[in-house]
Amino acid sequence: RPGDLFGPERLNSPGLAFGDGAALRRLTAEITAAAGLAEAAPILDGIACAGPSRPVISPIDGTKLGTVTEADAAVAARAMETAATGFPAWTAMPAQERAACLDRAAEAFMRERGRLLHLLQIEAGKTLDDALAEWREAIDFLRYYAAEGRRLFRRLQALPGPAGEANSLSLAGRGVFVAISPWNFPLAIFTGQVAAALMAGNAVVAKPAPQTPLVAALAVRLLHAAGVPAGALQLTPGGPETGAALIAHPALAGVVFTGSTATARAINRSLAARDGAILPLIAETGGINAMIVDATALPEQVADDVVTSAFRSAGQRCSALRLLLVQEDVADRMIAAVAGAARELQVGDPRHLSTDLGPVIDGAAKARLDAHIARMTAEARVHVAGVAPQGLYVAPHLFEIGGVADLREEVFGPILHVVRYRADALARVVEEIRAGGYGLTLGIQSRIEESVERIAAALPHGNVYVNRTMIGAVVGSQPFGGTGLSGTGPKAGGPHYLIRFATERTLTVNT
Ligand code: GLU
Repeated sequence: RPGDLFGPERLNSPGLAFGDGAALRRLTAEITAAAGLAEAAPILDGIACAGPSRPVISPIDGTKLGTVTEADAAVAARAMETAATGFPAWTAMPAQERAACLDRAAEAFMRERGRLLHLLQIEAGKTLDDALAEWREAIDFLRYYAAEGRRLFRRLQALPGPAGEANSLSLAGRGVFVAISPWNFPLAIFTGQVAAALMAGNAVVAKPAPQTPLVAALAVRLLHAAGVPAGALQLTPGGPETGAALIAHPALAGVVFTGSTATARAINRSLAARDGAILPLIAETGGINAMIVDATALPEQVADDVVTSAFRSAGQRCSALRLLLVQEDVADRMIAAVAGAARELQVGDPRHLSTDLGPVIDGAAKARLDAHIARMTAEARVHVAGVAPQGLYVAPHLFEIGGVADLREEVFGPILHVVRYRADALARVVEEIRAGGYGLTLGIQSRIEESVERIAAALPHGNVYVNRTMIGAVVGSQPFGGTGLSGTGPKAGGPHYLIRFATERTLTVNT
């Protein structure tokens, strides 16, 4: 029965056909009506804390969107204590009721479409297409973990044993989970982490990325209004110091983190340095994601899939394609097709429907990307070097480099690197990718089944995409997460994710 392996039957949220003029007008009217200044502050026991605040600035044009009050170390400690106090009641609540809270939150997210999409656009610089996809993913995470939770946490699972002995296995929450999420999916990943930790019976302290606290604050208010008790979910906006204070707190029972490999390492070190219990870290980090294109691939499809995978969301996805490997025999044709499609992309205000790439997230990101472009322009062969509008905009770039090893760092933006390989050097290229140590997404474009199988078997990547794009993992269909330098392996939106947030208890009764 599919239900056993893939979870209960459940539908993901419906999409929107952009060709449906009336639906699109309704949507844009909802978004426009949601405009106005917003606020984010620590929410402890359901109450927003006052304190010194700073403006939140839009990456689109630098306008002030509202204010955020960040949690300093003292507020972070109080949030952990509040969650520790809220944990027993939440974890004792039947799983069905915890799941019902998440389902009601999904309904609330549906109703608040305008406000959530508005914030995703102005705070994170998302195009309408990206904002919609992210809003849907957040709703799908809520419903998916609710459904999975009902299945997994329902009752004790009876296990065999000799006569006179009853054995059973059950799942239980661990305690206070800290959830640290990134700015590139400030609603979907934020909500997914929180929903999974809550569903597994944990109290949660959530720290959104400093760039995107406003949408996170709205999500927390909606979760509370949907019935998640105030004590079970605290919000602590802030930067690395806030995160460090949360992780150092004695009440901590586990961490779920999405962000850079360097920060995941720092969290790991901090956990290792603590006295007391040994705590789990669920980490999803970056990747130098490659796509291998052999001579049997279809050029039009490759061009389409490469451009979407490398440049959609301005390349600001950890799944995005960074390194395109093309068999030499077809390289000129493939590179020309990709370059032609890349040059067509529109860069600018993401609120315009014709825009393909919005801004990058902030000045630091833009400076890092500009420096990389300058270095590549000097060192590599330039195939595409677009011109972007003033501000935090970066146009698509395509650089040809000598080999896989020439790209050793994740470049988080719309910059693609291409390498030609000779057919008889494929095994070496695959080995070079493996040696890089990342293992998030992998693309393969080939019509030769054995070749696809051989490449996939030789590499440890968590998400392998064959003859299609390599971004936009769908909840319940493409559980997402990587290995090695890309993370600790758990798959968000997959049937085993919740178990990572829980403990398992065996009960043996001599009857
Ligand atoms: N799950 C997203 C995707 O498949 C990427 C998540 C991330 O960037 O962290 O595109």
